Amino acid sequence: MRTGSMRVAEISTAAIRHNVGHIRELTGGVVIVVVKANGYGHGAAIAAQAAIEGGADMVATADLEEALALREAGIAGPILCWLHGARVDFAPAVAEDIEIGVSNLAQLEKLAAAAQRAGKTAVAQLKVDTGLSRNGACRSEWDVLFTRAAELHRAGIVHVRGIFSHLANAGDQGDRAQAAEFDAAIALLQEKGVDPELTHLAASAATLKSPHLHYSAVRVGVVAYGLSPLADKTSAQLGLIPAMTLRSEIVALRGVPAGTGVSYGFNHVCETATTLALVPMGYADGMPRALNGSGAWVSIAGEPRPIVGRIGMDQFIVDVGPLAGRLSLGDEVVLFGDPERGFPAVEIWAGLMRTINYEIIASIGPRVLRLAAGADAA
Ligand SMILES: *Cc1c(COP(=O)(O)O)cnc(C)c1O
Repeated sequence: MRTGSMRVAEISTAAIRHNVGHIRELTGGVVIVVVKANGYGHGAAIAAQAAIEGGADMVATADLEEALALREAGIAGPILCWLHGARVDFAPAVAEDIEIGVSNLAQLEKLAAAAQRAGKTAVAQLKVDTGLSRNGACRSEWDVLFTRAAELHRAGIVHVRGIFSHLANAGDQGDRAQAAEFDAAIALLQEKGVDPELTHLAASAATLKSPHLHYSAVRVGVVAYGLSPLADKTSAQLGLIPAMTLRSEIVALRGVPAGTGVSYGFNHVCETATTLALVPMGYADGMPRALNGSGAWVSIAGEPRPIVGRIGMDQFIVDVGPLAGRLSLGDEVVLFGDPERGFPAVEIWAGLMRTINYEIIASIGPRVLRLAAGADAA
């Protein structure tokens, strides 16, 4: 940032290390930390580095492009990615030692061809659909896919390192049914002559709730960032520390008389004389415009103050009321952070927006500077 940063997502790497360490203790197996979508908005390289320091054995992304960006950023350890377009080119994956989640035979053949062209063994983990009805080979495809994978494995062209699937989180019974399917897939792969080193089914929710679903590895995203995947449990209740503090600053302060209209459409009119603070964050920065009129608030000088008027692309307004005399331009505004430190929890926004914490953090825009902060917070 050449010009001073007025929009900052401060990332406590200590919190990420703590959260990953907590998951390690909980499972005792291999921990794969998912850093897709710019590390759930936290900055992919910051998140990956902190996760590895916290004991992650592997990091993972959805797209190969994201995985390659991590390599370019200097992340040296194992990286897995699993969502591929029909025209994907796996040559860079082979060159950069990115492990490929393979969902169908066409992907496997492409990976094998890339390996042979490079004169190098590629590494694959087979992705199977056990009931989510999304990415992954469905049961009718397993036999052909596993037969070919075992052949390539024996030939040293594609090393089949693992097999994995993803849960629908549709309740304990559904989870158990998916696990039974997953067990069948593992058994079939073994029958074909491949005993996979890594087997993984659980993402954050099952990692916390269902020890019987841990297999040899877990694949966690949101808990690494210190947020709860469970509607009825807070971060603190789960022993997690939210890693992101989203903050900005006051760039204008204005005393206004009663009856003053605020922002586009004047859908907020000040009932009494008050003071308005302008904060340079908007919907382009991940602050949902639909928060308008919802009762959302921010923390200024340690006090909760309401967001008033419509949220613009770049800015919003806070009624700072009685705080006015204590405030100056440049003072900090915290949009959300760790509630244990007195900041609004991201779950407040998620609740007002009828969405999940995941969507709010993953939507933080590119103008927001991700700033790694080391020692604090944990
Ligand atoms: C995003 C994702 C995860 C991580 O999910 P969390 O709920 O954040 O732990 C794990 N596996 C797959 C396949 C994913 O797409």
